[in-house]
Amino acid sequence: MKPRLSTDEYAAGIASGDRVILAKAISLAESTLPEDQQQAGELISKLGPAKNTIRIGITGVPGVGKSTFIEAFGKHVTSLNKRLAVLTIDPSSQLTKGSILGDKTRMDELSKNPLAFIRPTASGNTLGGTAGRTREAILLCEAAGYEIILVETVGVGQSETQVKNLVDFFLLLMLAGAGDELQGIKKGIMEMADAILITKADGDNVRRAKEAQADYQHALNLLTETDSGWKPKVLTCSALSYMGIKEVWQTILSFQEHMISKGYYQAQRNTQTVKAFHEAFDYLLRNELAKYPELRVKAETLEAQVANQKVQAHQAAGELMELYREVLRQS
Ligand code: GDP
Repeated sequence: MKPRLSTDEYAAGIASGDRVILAKAISLAESTLPEDQQQAGELISKLGPAKNTIRIGITGVPGVGKSTFIEAFGKHVTSLNKRLAVLTIDPSSQLTKGSILGDKTRMDELSKNPLAFIRPTASGNTLGGTAGRTREAILLCEAAGYEIILVETVGVGQSETQVKNLVDFFLLLMLAGAGDELQGIKKGIMEMADAILITKADGDNVRRAKEAQADYQHALNLLTETDSGWKPKVLTCSALSYMGIKEVWQTILSFQEHMISKGYYQAQRNTQTVKAFHEAFDYLLRNELAKYPELRVKAETLEAQVANQKVQAHQAAGELMELYREVLRQS
């Protein structure tokens, strides 16, 4: 077995911008071993919070142009001398054991850029685990001096909601004229977006992209205003011809300025952290419960009864809790 790095060694490596150590620290945070989790927690506390960072979530169906956009966006922000970390969450990796993000050509140029750090994050075997680990990966990247953190999620499903809770700014990439349903975009996802970006606005597609921009802007204007007062924007871009990229960055900056001026920037992060604490506890509790076979059996029986409307959901939860207390008393 390889000798384990001490927390101080990790901290010193990260502070000095050592990418190998940063990658190792992220692996430590992703590990399911309790001692690794413990050390990752200590490390993050030791490193402390970083200042002046922005966390951006990016989502959209496969093929919408996420990696091409991130490549172009990365080129732009690194040309401004910003350091960028890209964390990709790939929910398919657990199922297929291979990954749809696995092809090496993804973000090829950016991966060679010394100001960029790209890291695919395995989604882990439970959703509850993913968000917690990605949160730690974000904090580690920030401590390593990356000011812009992109969290990319692939596909559609629960992962978007989780990413929304990890980031300051949520960007939804969409194709023009493909129809929301075709793109698997549920209404709720549009409502989470701080901006929608219509991709591939080039060649024959320019007109359609402009039309889609007007339609989506109209749809977003109909949504009730958020507490912060930020009005979600709809933009178009062509990552291939590098059009509209700097406008996305400018929009993100004006969002950040807006949120800071309204006192919402840190407040949103604080709310997210509290939520993360509860989620982490729920996750531990569920894992704890799963250790007792009698609870598992009881849960399955109750599930069937709840499904058949024989027992009410709350009543079933109460019964399971009662058995848990009983098991604890006996152990
Ligand atoms: P992802 O699956 O969302 O990461 O999508 P990719 O970035 O891999 O892009 C999917 C396909 O769309 C690729 O063939 C890209 O070359 C193409 N594509 C991406 N961005 C653009 C663009 O701005 N214009 C055009 N015309 N094609 C694009």
